[in-house]
Parts: sequence; structure tokens; C-alpha cells
Amino acid sequence: MIDPQPSGAAPAEPSVASRAVPVPYAPAYGTASLADLPGSLLASLGLPVEGTLALEPASRVCLFLVDGLGAELLAAHPEAAPFLTAHLRGTLTAGFPSSTPTSLATLGTGAPPGEHGMVGIQMAVPGEGRLFNCLRWTAPGLSIDPDVWQPTPTVYERMAAAGVEPVYVAPASFDGTGLTRAVYRGMRHRAAESPDERVEAVRQALRETTFVTVYFGDVDRAGHFSGWGGAEWLEQVAVADRMAERIAEALPPGAVLYVTADHGMINAADRVDVDLSQDLREGVLMLGGEPRARHVYTSPGAAGAVLETWREVLRGRAWVVTREEAVAAGWFGRGVRREWLGRIGDVVAVPYGECVIVASAGEPVETSMIGYHGSLTPAEQNVPLVEIRR
Ligand SMILES: [Zn+2]
Repeated sequence: MIDPQPSGAAPAEPSVASRAVPVPYAPAYGTASLADLPGSLLASLGLPVEGTLALEPASRVCLFLVDGLGAELLAAHPEAAPFLTAHLRGTLTAGFPSSTPTSLATLGTGAPPGEHGMVGIQMAVPGEGRLFNCLRWTAPGLSIDPDVWQPTPTVYERMAAAGVEPVYVAPASFDGTGLTRAVYRGMRHRAAESPDERVEAVRQALRETTFVTVYFGDVDRAGHFSGWGGAEWLEQVAVADRMAERIAEALPPGAVLYVTADHGMINAADRVDVDLSQDLREGVLMLGGEPRARHVYTSPGAAGAVLETWREVLRGRAWVVTREEAVAAGWFGRGVRREWLGRIGDVVAVPYGECVIVASAGEPVETSMIGYHGSLTPAEQNVPLVEIRR
């Protein structure tokens, strides 16, 4: 029995308690987030939409999406991307989770995740007891209709209705996938593989239409497998920088190029393996999300115990909250549509610092990575907004 301590007395675990718990870096929905960009681009093209970012009018817009090029990462290596650095207009926040399918849906709809419902890479299919991987668009034994899973109309559909024929320049393998349908529907797909081919495809598309999006995924890929800041990553950042410069050179008069990213990245230095922890598996039905933003779906009646255990095990390494707390904190936007609530974990575990929550048996590839993203830290949330006008 320990005597009651007066307030302010030394806590029981000074080493942990003295380590300040950071505050989640909340997405700036409604002011300066990726959700605010599409409407602002439409407004700059003269469509009757309110643009929060107050972008200047343009005759044509090219949006270059460099997967994984966080603003803090770019700021740490200006020498790798002198062109992008010289034309930085500001920063936006990605949204939660800071993950590719979520951000693509946000950019595609102009809505926050709580509205479009793409709240993670792996989400529970409510009522089915199955996990759906929306990056691969697979759910064991289920067929997921992209128009039903993500029903919010895309800005590209709105553009098409207004007479603009938006073009999406990306690898041929993206054409016709469930994810592409969910987040890019309304776009005409133009397949291009190498950086040179993509620049050329953009150049041609800008002659035919007033809105072009082009995607480059190799900065993210290099970051995941070699770590951000490393030689391979720097090489791919330089490729993206050169692509941007060449697209800018090809802009017709009155056109503008914006460059942004879907999220940043951290290099992991602390791994918690759920598959090696009996405690963390107890009461857990399905482990969803990704290593920096976990949706934990619990057995009936087990949510309270799981929350307690996960908080204990991840103390000082992750924010561990209930679904209701995550929603109330505004992580997914001002609210979450009722029909999407079941896609969010009963418990949401979001590591900060350099911690990742991996599952070595269930997700061997993801477990072996170096770079990760998904969380609510500035390194993952802040993305650049680069602007070049002709
Ligand atoms: Zn990634």
C-alpha cells in the first residue's frame, strides 16, 4: 500500500513520465489541407467553386503528385531538389491517416477522410468480419465495388460535367484498378511508364485539355525500402525535381504547375511486433490500418481491455484512443459519416517518434521496411505546395 501522494509528486515511472507525450499534429482541414486543394484548383480554372487556398486564375493546370515527398523531408535536402525548393509556395497537411489511398481519395473528392470513407489501407468490411486492403483492392471472399465503397463524386466527374476532360498520367498497371476507379473516376487515363514518357505525356495532354494530373511513386518506394534521406531516396527526389522542371518548361502560356505530395515519411527505429506479443493479440479480432496508423478491431466486449493493454504496452510510443475519441478529435475531419464508423478500429493506435507497430507473420513485407508513414507528426503530415506559372 502506497500512501496517497500530494499532487505534483513524483509519478511511479519517472523515466516514462518525464518523456513528454507529443500532441498529435492535427490536419488543417478546411484551411490548408489536401482536401482544400481540388476545389481551389477548380476555382482557379474559373469553375463556380469556392477555393479556400485563393490560387490565382490559370488557363490550364497540371498537378504533379510526388508520392511520399513530405515538406520536412524536402526542406532537409534542398540540394536534391533545387527546382522544387525554389518554387515552394507553402505547405498543406495530408490528413489522417497520412497514407496514399486516403490522400488520393482526399485529392479526388476534395473531402476529408471522414466524408469519403477511405480511412486506412486495411479496413474492416463492417458486418463481414473481413479486412479489405484498398491499395490492392482485395478482400478475401468479397468483391468490393469502388463506386459503393467510395461514393463521393470526384472533382474529375465535376470537371467533366463542366466540359473539362481531365487526364491522369500514370503507369498502365494503374488503369482500371479498384483504387483508380474509387479515387480517379472521371479522369481519362494516359499510360506512361518512365519519367521521360510521363513528361512527354503531360506535354501532349496539356495541348488537349485544361487539367492534367501526373503521378510519380519512386520517392516513396525508395523511402520505404532504403529509408528517406539515403542515396536511393535522394536519387529519386532528383528525378522528381527534374520532371517538375521539364513539365514547367512545357507549360503553355497562362498555365500553372502545382507539385504536391500525399504524405511525408519517418525512418523507423523502434518496432513493436503484434505477432510476437500475446498481450497485444489478446481480444483482437483483426489488425488493420498500417504500421504508423493502426485500426484495431476487437472481439465483442473486449474493446475496453484491449484499449487498456495497448495503452500500457505502447506508453510513450503511440497515441492509443477509442474510435469515438479519434472521431471527436477531428482526425478524420469535422465528423465521420455514420456508415463509415465501422471501418475505423474500436481502438486506434498511432505511433509517434520512430515507432512502428508491425505484424511480422501477417505482413512480412511491410515489417521489413525502413521508411513508414500514416501518423500525425509534422514529418508525415506536412506536404509541399510548389507553384510554377507561365
Ligand atoms: Zn508509401
